[in-house]
Amino acid sequence: MAQAGGVNRLPGRAAQTVLGPVDAPSLGFTLTHEHIADAPDVLGRWPKAWGGRAELTAKAVEELQRVRAGGVGTIVDLTTYDVGRDIRFLEEVSRRSGIHMIAATGQRFFPPNVPHVSMPSRTVEGLAAFFVKEIRQGIEGSGVRAGVIKIGIVGQSATALEETGLRAGARASKATGAPIRIHTKSASRAGENHAVLLESEKIDPARVSFDHSDDSGDMDYFLGLARRGYSLGMDHVHRGLGPDFKPSFEKRAECIKLLADAGFAGNIFLSQDCEFGGVLLPAENREWRETIDPPEGLLFVTRKLIPHLKQIGVSDRDIHTMTVENPQRFFRMPARL
Ligand SMILES: [Zn+2]
Repeated sequence: MAQAGGVNRLPGRAAQTVLGPVDAPSLGFTLTHEHIADAPDVLGRWPKAWGGRAELTAKAVEELQRVRAGGVGTIVDLTTYDVGRDIRFLEEVSRRSGIHMIAATGQRFFPPNVPHVSMPSRTVEGLAAFFVKEIRQGIEGSGVRAGVIKIGIVGQSATALEETGLRAGARASKATGAPIRIHTKSASRAGENHAVLLESEKIDPARVSFDHSDDSGDMDYFLGLARRGYSLGMDHVHRGLGPDFKPSFEKRAECIKLLADAGFAGNIFLSQDCEFGGVLLPAENREWRETIDPPEGLLFVTRKLIPHLKQIGVSDRDIHTMTVENPQRFFRMPARL
């Protein structure tokens, strides 16, 4: 409930979902980096594939019910305002499918030119205030509140605009307690550069995840960040199945096992960075972004990755830590935000 001064009070230990606060332990199995909220975008790009929004939404709900039956309790949507986030769609498909969804504030800049948004005029303070507003008061007048901050940094180190976003994200996180997930070019050890900026903002590394980390495959990089308290989002593992992406699927999975064996299961998240709109399209309509997602869609982690991890010796205990306990802790918001 909103209170004077824009301060909300949440029940203790709650995560902030699109349908309101949820006791963190009831999040269950959680996919921590996906893209559901931009699914209506396919209506614009492939108008003939769908009758309209109602048909698309019905198809989405049906697919999400299948995902829920496949064991997924919560999906964290990391689609920000600048890449087509449709918050009302996210709220509706969560309500109708029964899957908890956590919406993101933040920014991606990918593509870099966003119509109607004059990014160079943004200041750290102005952008932080916008993020805080989406967390405390809601998104675009919908009343739906963000429960995570997503920041995109495309290259090895942040551009000036990306640095503005990262610093704003750090300040909004400190103000509200919301966690931060960063699109990270891990193959260039970019997380190490972002950590320097985050630490200059005095951010607690326990509130930060470097996503797409498995694109690295470098245990020295992983262990360095994990020892400093950062989390590693392993959400591109399926890409290693194709010929165009290194490291291989097996290598990415092996790194997850080595990290768990080294005692860092508590720093790992599993997901598959899926573009849900692409999953909903008929196969012949899919283009590049849609075809790099796994054929299992949102069920790749449960159907393919986890069975493989078990096969190479990752314990059920560690998998539970990565997929259930870590999200509970990470997405829990303070009672006063
Ligand atoms: Zn993503």
